[in-house]
Order: sequence, then C-alpha cells, then structure tokens
Amino acid sequence: MRTFISTLFMLVTIGAVLSGCGGQSGAPEGGAAAAPAKTYNWKIVTTWPPNFPIFQEGVQRFAKDVDTLSNGRLKIKVFAGGELVPALQVFDAVSQGMVEMGHGAGYYWAGKLPAAQFFTAVPFGMNAQGMNAWLSAGDGLALWRELYQPHNLVPFPMGNTGVQMGGWFNKKIDSVADLKGLKMRIPGLGGKVFAKAGGTPVLMAGGEIYTALDRGTIDATEWVGPFHDERLGLYRAAKYYYYPGWHEPGPVLELTVNAQAWAGLPADLQKAVEVAASDTNQWMLNQFEARNMQALRRLKDEHRVQVLPFPDDVLAELHRLTLEVLDEEAAKDPAFKKVYEDYRAFMSDHDEWGQLSEAAYQRARRQ
Ligand code: CA
Repeated sequence: MRTFISTLFMLVTIGAVLSGCGGQSGAPEGGAAAAPAKTYNWKIVTTWPPNFPIFQEGVQRFAKDVDTLSNGRLKIKVFAGGELVPALQVFDAVSQGMVEMGHGAGYYWAGKLPAAQFFTAVPFGMNAQGMNAWLSAGDGLALWRELYQPHNLVPFPMGNTGVQMGGWFNKKIDSVADLKGLKMRIPGLGGKVFAKAGGTPVLMAGGEIYTALDRGTIDATEWVGPFHDERLGLYRAAKYYYYPGWHEPGPVLELTVNAQAWAGLPADLQKAVEVAASDTNQWMLNQFEARNMQALRRLKDEHRVQVLPFPDDVLAELHRLTLEVLDEEAAKDPAFKKVYEDYRAFMSDHDEWGQLSEAAYQRARRQ
C-alpha cells in the first residue's frame, strides 16, 4: 500500500513538473488565459497631523510596504487628519466607504462604541505585550471584529505607544487631595477616574495643549511619552513630569478597512495588508522603546524637568476608582460588559504569568 501511494505520488509529481514546464508547448508562464492583474488604488485617512513622527510616519511606511508586497497591485495614498476628512471623522469615512482605510485609535469612538476603549487602552489595563497577546492569541481580535462589524469595518492592530507617562503638573502630587480641583487634559476612562478623584477632566486636541497649559486654562495634561511630549514643548509650560501612565498602559492604534472593500480584495492582497499591518504594529512600539529614554534624558538634563513617580497611595486610590468606573460602564452597556469580562480574565492569567516571568526577571536583574 505504502509503495503504491509513493509511486502514485511520484507519478503525480512528475506529471505536475512536466505540465508545469510545458517546454515545447509555447504557453506563456502562468497560463495562456490569465487576465492582466487588476490594480487597486485605495486611500487611507488618519487621525494624525501631517508628518507626525512614528504614527503618521508608520502609516506612510505601511503603504509603501503594501505596494512592495503586492508588486504594485495595491496602491494606498495616505492622507493626514484634516486633509481629506477631519481627524475625528475617520471612523465614519471608512464605515461609509468614502475611503477604503483609516488609522486612529479605538477610544476616539468611545461616544458611539464605549467597548472600543478596550481595543486601545483602559486604566490599569494590559501593557503592549498583553494587548498583543490578547488580540493575536486570545479572543481580542474576534471580539473587536464583532464590535465593528455592524459599522462595516474590519479592524487590525497597527501600532502601540508602550506605557505612556502620567503627565505634566505645575504642583507636586503628594496625596490624592492634591488632585482635587485640578483641571487636567485627560481623555476617556482615565478622565472619568480623574473626575472621581475630584479633578476636572478636559478634552482637548494635541495642537491646543501647549497654549492651554502655558496660559493656565488647564493645570495639568497628559499627552504621550517623552519623545512626543518633548516635541510639543510641554517642558516650557510645566516643571513636574509624573510617571507611570496609569491611564494608558499600552495603547493600541488601529487600522480599519471598509468591509466591502476588504471582501473585494484577492486573498494575496489581503495577506499583504495583514502582514504589513502586523509589521507596522511592532515597528511603532520599537520606535517608542528606542527613542523615549533619549528624550527623557534631554528633558531632565537640558530642560531641568523634575521626573517624579506618583506616590503609591495615589496609584492605589486611582486603581480602586478605575474598578468602580469599569463596573459602572459595564452596567450601562452589554457590549462593554462582554468585552470587559474576556479582557479581565485574559489579563488575570497574563498578570499571573508575568509575575514569575517579566517581573521576576526584572527583580533578578537588579540583584
Ligand atoms: Ca495619552
């Protein structure tokens, strides 16, 4: 039996090789009937300013990679926020098919889809490593796609900032009482937690932050991390720079693709998009990991910024308030509850493993 199968396999193989060579038949490679490959010309709109380092830079790089991987069959023209559609209309523009692709962050759409925040970052939630594991090896991506499906969107993780900084303050935060009455630019769930702690969260686009802080319209702000915060010049408007970014421990950036456009793409081009998005996801995180410390050193040494940790009891209280906020949101929205339950279970395992892997290793290195 075995011999019969191997012989059969050999004959089939020889047959395939012979017909594949087709030496004397004169048929062009790829078959005589092959139609010329179709070229797709797509657009991607982003929520970022033009030339915004790492984010917009990463999207440009992604478009170039897709062009290369698809042999020029999928061309993606990149538009920054406001160039084709306003930054915060990216979700709708892709959903309605005005353009095929968008790049932004899920928590920008929290007003429409509160559960989308889990696919960017939630306070005291998972770091980049945990988010990548949940999305790619847990239920994260399936839950994300289920949430976006009624909106005609197929999401992919495409970028991560790593753990952000806690923000810029003009007074020291020695206790939770110091947060009371403070006006701080802090978005999303972090803002809700801050409000519970007695502060006033303010929503404000990146371009307005510096002036607002400088003029005292706000008392404090968070933005991203040393690399981007240095570029915004925030050290000229505040002297204390707190860590860690308890509210944004590893925010994921998203690529969204219009569902019909995606379904109309041949499998090899879909794979090119998937592979390029996955590479960009890692590339952006690598940039932050490589550039943040250099920027932080310049902030300390050249700009005399005081870099301080939030006191333990402040973090413990913010953590307690976060759990209250998450429970309140889950009680209001079934989709939020569903995602939260899965997220929480995954995070619990990931934390437990992390204690005896990452955390134990970090301790070992300090011995
Ligand atoms: Ca931030």
